[in-house]
Amino acid sequence: QKIQQTEFMTSAPTFRLCPPDVGLEVAFAGRSNAGKSSAINALTNQRQLARSSKTPGRTQMINFFSIGDTNRRLVDLPGYGYAAVPLEMKKEWQVELEEYLVSRSSLAGLVLMTDIRHPLKFFDEQMLHWAKDGDLPVHILLTKADKLKYGASKNALLNTRKRLKKLGLNCTIQLFSALRKEGLDELAGVMGNWYDY
Ligand code: GDP
Repeated sequence: QKIQQTEFMTSAPTFRLCPPDVGLEVAFAGRSNAGKSSAINALTNQRQLARSSKTPGRTQMINFFSIGDTNRRLVDLPGYGYAAVPLEMKKEWQVELEEYLVSRSSLAGLVLMTDIRHPLKFFDEQMLHWAKDGDLPVHILLTKADKLKYGASKNALLNTRKRLKKLGLNCTIQLFSALRKEGLDELAGVMGNWYDY
């Protein structure tokens, strides 16, 4: 699986300091604690590629990983949703984030992680609307699917699909468990399409 040949490239404190906008990028986003680091580590088969910053309110970095020796990148966006972040910083950050999602040419797709027990919070939906504005394809992972029984997880999937439809959002969505390594092939398949493999 090609996404396993992943190497840390660089960290940027703001989108203005991103690597050049060439090649193909897939970005990972989600609320803090949604399971983003676990998902990236399971996908790339590395234990500590993505380290989640657990300090509320601290400015987190945008981390770039290169895949193989091609011009393809995986982008680990800072987790959002910590109430402790000062409002002004949040606003500035949001403007940059929106601009990145709407105008980054190399950005081929967004993987949005949301906890299956409480999917699609306010800012998740905000992200989805920005992605739609930028015609950016989105694939949603309902994370920690192992926390629910099989039937309940299927229901969560159906209900979230309905909600997306109601919001007029055209995303793909799947169940995911980093713990049980479930959903990895499906995710790698979607990313492979975006990366043009
Ligand atoms: P991040 O803040 O989004 O990077 O989230 P982390 O990957 O650090 O995960 C947050 C918490 O959820 C940690 O305690 C993980 O052990 C837990 N977690 C992540 N993925 C799973 C999963 O698939 N199943 C279960 N049960 N717990 C998970």
